[in-house]
Amino acid sequence: MIEFTFTEEQNMLREMVRDFANNELKPIAAKIDEEEEIPEHIIRKVAELGLLGAPYPVEYGGSGVGEVGYCIIQEEISRACLSTATFIGAHVSIGTNAIYIGGSEEQKQKWLPILTSGEKIAAFALTEPSAGSDAFNLQTRAYLDGNEWVINGQKLWITNGPFADVFSVFARTNLGISLFVVEKGTPGFTPGAPEKKMGLRGSKTSSLTFDNVRVPKDNLIGRDGKGFLTAMKTLDAGRLGLGAACLGACKELLEISTRYAKERKQFGEPIANFQAVQFMLAEMAALIYEVESIVYRTAWLYDRGECTPRLSAIVKLVSSNALDVCVDHAMQIHGGMGYSRELPIERYYRDSRINRIFEGTSEIQKLVIARDVIKRNGVLD
Ligand SMILES: Cc1cc2nc3c(=O)[nH]c(=O)nc-3n(C[C@H](O)[C@H](O)[C@H](O)COP(=O)(O)OP(=O)(O)OC[C@H]3O[C@@H](n4cnc5c(N)ncnc54)[C@H](O)[C@@H]3O)c2cc1C
Repeated sequence: MIEFTFTEEQNMLREMVRDFANNELKPIAAKIDEEEEIPEHIIRKVAELGLLGAPYPVEYGGSGVGEVGYCIIQEEISRACLSTATFIGAHVSIGTNAIYIGGSEEQKQKWLPILTSGEKIAAFALTEPSAGSDAFNLQTRAYLDGNEWVINGQKLWITNGPFADVFSVFARTNLGISLFVVEKGTPGFTPGAPEKKMGLRGSKTSSLTFDNVRVPKDNLIGRDGKGFLTAMKTLDAGRLGLGAACLGACKELLEISTRYAKERKQFGEPIANFQAVQFMLAEMAALIYEVESIVYRTAWLYDRGECTPRLSAIVKLVSSNALDVCVDHAMQIHGGMGYSRELPIERYYRDSRINRIFEGTSEIQKLVIARDVIKRNGVLD
């Protein structure tokens, strides 16, 4: 038999994040969307609560809660505000994680404490104008000139781009793709203006331009030419966090929709009495159970060093599809009110769709899964 329960510490973590999310974040989530800005006091509070470094070991300033703890955080934050979850995800799960996964001990000691404390904010810069799904085709170049790397190129769609302090940047050297740290303010490095997006409006995304950007030799993270492996490993963790964010949003949508279905009367009775509405609630509940099971099982495997790219791709694929169904059902259950900006449903609708696109589209997740299935002749034990 296997035991599958959260520890007391994990339950306490959930309670702490839920308190913050309910009392401080949810009341201003609509404002964050409207003003396209997460207020500074929320960013500071998230840092104070330790959420910007939670999964990392204490020796690097984290709380050592691992991937399961990180998924708990993302689930609870996403119930309140998907923009804030995206800001946290870009900082913790990909921006900082690339350095954690790829860096030497000395580099981790240097960069992680300032990131896990939230003193500096991180971003993960892989995507380029001609390298989205085909990330390996990236064109940003880096060459060594004396004691400095010189970087030239452009990145696109970088979450936290307009304001981050520390960028994990992937660029091509003579030996392959490598990972570099570039700090805000380095001459020749210019973040673009925030993109105007359909959803996740509080989360800022921009291009980055590198025009003969010089960084110290030591800012090459890990070994020259090994950066693509680091990027892929980083995305394995990122995709689990996105699964947890989808889970939180699905749960919130089910709660709001059930409440509404019991209150809203048509034909003289609550719409919750109609089987068509019940079936939508039932399907949402079933999907939530499915997503919850795979998110936490896979996060648990991740913490044991047993997660594989196929598993994290499955989590991303299944959870983003589930959220699409849940948000659509929530909209349908709310009728015209779901379409109104008075209620949060339309915001969730806009915020949710990106989950089938970023950190690898659903089609790319299917490619990752299918490649492994074929390699194993369909035997997945
Ligand atoms: C809001 C937002 C935030 C983001 N944040 C970050 C970030 O922080 N850091 C970062 O590096 N990137 C980030 N991205 C980029 C994101 O990861 C890419 O947009 C995504 O990987 C898809 O790349 P693309 O947009 O170039 O689409 P494309 O690769 O052009 O894909 C277009 C379509 O073609 C399909 N397609 C492509 N190749 C194949 C294939 N081989 N088989 C089948 N179908 C295929 C895709 O699935 C998709 O449907 C972000 C994007 C957005 C929109």
